[in-house]
Amino acid sequence: MTRLQALNADLHAHSTVSDGTLAPPALVHLAAQRGVELFALTDHDEIGGLAAAQQAARDIGLRFVPGVEISVTFAGQTVHVVGLGIDAGCAELVAGLARVRAGRLQRAQEMAAQLARVGIEGALEGALAFAGNLNLLSRTHFARWLVASGHCGSVREVFCRYLVAGKPGYVPHRWADLADAVGWIRAAGGVAVLAHPGRYKFDEAGFDALLVAFREAGGEAIEVATSNHDAEQQRRFARVARAFGLEASRGSDFHDPAEAHTPLGGICALPQELTPVWHRFL
Ligand code: AMP
Ligand code: MN
Ligand code: MN
Ligand code: MN
Repeated sequence: MTRLQALNADLHAHSTVSDGTLAPPALVHLAAQRGVELFALTDHDEIGGLAAAQQAARDIGLRFVPGVEISVTFAGQTVHVVGLGIDAGCAELVAGLARVRAGRLQRAQEMAAQLARVGIEGALEGALAFAGNLNLLSRTHFARWLVASGHCGSVREVFCRYLVAGKPGYVPHRWADLADAVGWIRAAGGVAVLAHPGRYKFDEAGFDALLVAFREAGGEAIEVATSNHDAEQQRRFARVARAFGLEASRGSDFHDPAEAHTPLGGICALPQELTPVWHRFL
């Protein structure tokens, strides 16, 4: 393994500015404690935590990459695009993210109304109590409240019984267009990374269409090592990275110490033959 590949890079994580449970500085400190050597904060549709995270990282000498994870709608599915190495002052990115966030409160109201119809009252207030950023109310906040209030035994159970297509509390939502999201990231000087590809439910042709559109829009990398992938998926997306000429990224998608199935900084190394996207940040 090259030194570049051996570097403990964790380039996907969430703070209280989106649906994580640690404030940006606490997250940075935990990353350093866990042996992360290059760390990116990638909150959903938000860059409000980057300044505090960057300062905390500077204070303890951890190399930091400013990031974001943008919610996109492509061919009727939600797809996430991570932007790494972005300039948080870029007006085009700031305005684009504000538009992506705009519909979240109304969506949350509709989610709560659906849950009330199946006898679960008070979900909006409940979810809001779990949110660190009222502009970024997410399904995760509803999930944590559903567990805390005894309606479900675990967050995993929530995402089987509620909040997903066909179940109470699911409200379809139109997020950013793929080309717009990649365009904002590039305008901000960043590199666009297709997040956790193993989570999407496209057939092979649909998945190829996504990759072609992503690359045409200016996307340059794909997450190969993520806590969402098993070994077979990791091999599959390593092949995809090579076939489509994409660099490879690695990130835990960390949200919370208790919920995580892979600890911060605990993601396996990338397969040898891939180019780590983090060569850009060293
Ligand atoms: P939202 O952007 O509001 O639709 O919320 C999406 C978030 O919900 C994701 O970023 C995850 O944190 C969480 N999530 C979605 N699906 C699941 C799942 N099956 N299990 C656990 N968390 C999930
Ligand atoms: Mn999340
Ligand atoms: Mn995601
Ligand atoms: Mn994520």
